Amino acid sequence: MKKIANYINGKLVEPISKNYIDNYNPATGDVYSLIPNSNDEDVNEAIKSARAAFSSWSKLKNSERSNWLEKISNEIHNRIDELALAESIDNGKPLKLAKSVDIPRARDNFKFYATAIQHYASESHHTSEGMINFTLRKPVGVAACISPWNLPLYLFSWKIAPALAAGNTVVAKPSEITPMTAYLLSEICQEIGLPAGVLNIVHGLGSSTGNSIISSDKIDLVSFTGGTSTGAHIASIVAPKFKKMSLELGGKNPNIIFDDCDFDAAIRTSLNSSFANQGQICLCGSRILVQRGIYEKFKNEFVSRTDQMIVGDPMDEKSRLGAIVSKSHYEKILSYIELAKEEGGSILTGGVPVKLDGDLSMGWYIRPTIIEGLDQRCRTNQEEIFGPVVTIQPFDTEEEVIELANSNDYGLAATIWTSNLSKAHRCSEQIKSGIIWVNCWLQRDLRTPFGGMKNSGVGREGGWEALRFFTEPKNVCIKY
Ligand code: NDP
Repeated sequence: MKKIANYINGKLVEPISKNYIDNYNPATGDVYSLIPNSNDEDVNEAIKSARAAFSSWSKLKNSERSNWLEKISNEIHNRIDELALAESIDNGKPLKLAKSVDIPRARDNFKFYATAIQHYASESHHTSEGMINFTLRKPVGVAACISPWNLPLYLFSWKIAPALAAGNTVVAKPSEITPMTAYLLSEICQEIGLPAGVLNIVHGLGSSTGNSIISSDKIDLVSFTGGTSTGAHIASIVAPKFKKMSLELGGKNPNIIFDDCDFDAAIRTSLNSSFANQGQICLCGSRILVQRGIYEKFKNEFVSRTDQMIVGDPMDEKSRLGAIVSKSHYEKILSYIELAKEEGGSILTGGVPVKLDGDLSMGWYIRPTIIEGLDQRCRTNQEEIFGPVVTIQPFDTEEEVIELANSNDYGLAATIWTSNLSKAHRCSEQIKSGIIWVNCWLQRDLRTPFGGMKNSGVGREGGWEALRFFTEPKNVCIKY
């Protein structure tokens, strides 16, 4: 059985303890590879090698670091089919999605920051009394980058690329649920000859390996994407040490459909924003709020189109939904569907597991589920389910829907469907979330600030925001 290796000091190495964890294929429920169960010793080795590499990496010219990122990006591009297949097997997502979204975006993350770092400039402030202030921006040091399982290489590289571009060295941990493409990335880095220690990838459990990384006094900052409760735990360890920290956390996003919207576009995109990647995207619109005038029409069409979605073999082009990432997550989603029923919700469609045939009979599949009849204050509408489950509810006025949208502790993303530009502006201003999409969803321009408010996180990624986070500003004041 394939054994994944850690990538430390430029070498692919076994965990020092030689302990491994099972890695499952969600489509079949089988163990198909083994992951290092890394401990403090492995983590210390990784941090030591990152510290040793920092001096020379941080002194390279921006253009030289840019060349390295460009090489990684090109190699991801060359291996796109292999990486997409690995991502689909590891995560359960449709191969088509991994090929069209996940891996191209990982490639583009490196490409984007390879160029961004060459255009990055710091500020200067002239004063009238013959003084000039300018901001020096230096890399911070060793960056700890921890990412989740839903968009594995996509989110892993979204942290690593700006951290490296800005001149930091990195100790990174992917989710132990989806380690494979991070491992393949380490193979790529080795093949292109990335200087040893610049990027270190340590595999293992969040509660041990991850915790060991973020608790170390020898890392200089933490960039984390994952669940809100994990984020709170990480903050409790990192904040008292006054280290820089960026937390991209959960969401429970409203998808608001006004009756003056482009109906077909709203339906078509809502199918994606509800169920893409089995609903396991932090940006999915899991609370659908529809204006009363078109509520019945929207609901009927949305249910009928959802009924036509095929849940099936991730390798099959026709599958719109693949497998849920893990058995425990599958059980968690099903338990939320039970909770929704207890809270008085009616299941309009779905709500049941899917049993496929043959090799896939032990995989974890759930029909896309739409639930009606729940109040916004109930747990189903307050807590993040992170699966193919949405609720739908009517509203009457703009004021009411803004209140409903904001009646949640999360504040990551919101989608608004309307043909009235002024209304779109008013709602965008008043809805408390870090990202607002009007008449679209998941359109990403990598220059824009990305992140959430309230329980959805602290800080922003993307564009200059990430380069600011991964550098330390120092003001220099010169009198002349
Ligand atoms: P988790 O919080 O469980 O895990 C995220 C990462 O943190 C994993 O690599 C995990 O390792 C690791 N981890 C867990 N415990 C610790 C710890 N004590 N110290 C250090 N690292 C730790 O999230 P999930 O992987 O379940 O991801 C789903 C969540 O991520 C959802 O809430 C989703 O909304 C959020 N998310 C947010 C995004 C955003 O941009 N705002 C984007 C995508 C997802 P392991 O898995 O090995 O335990």
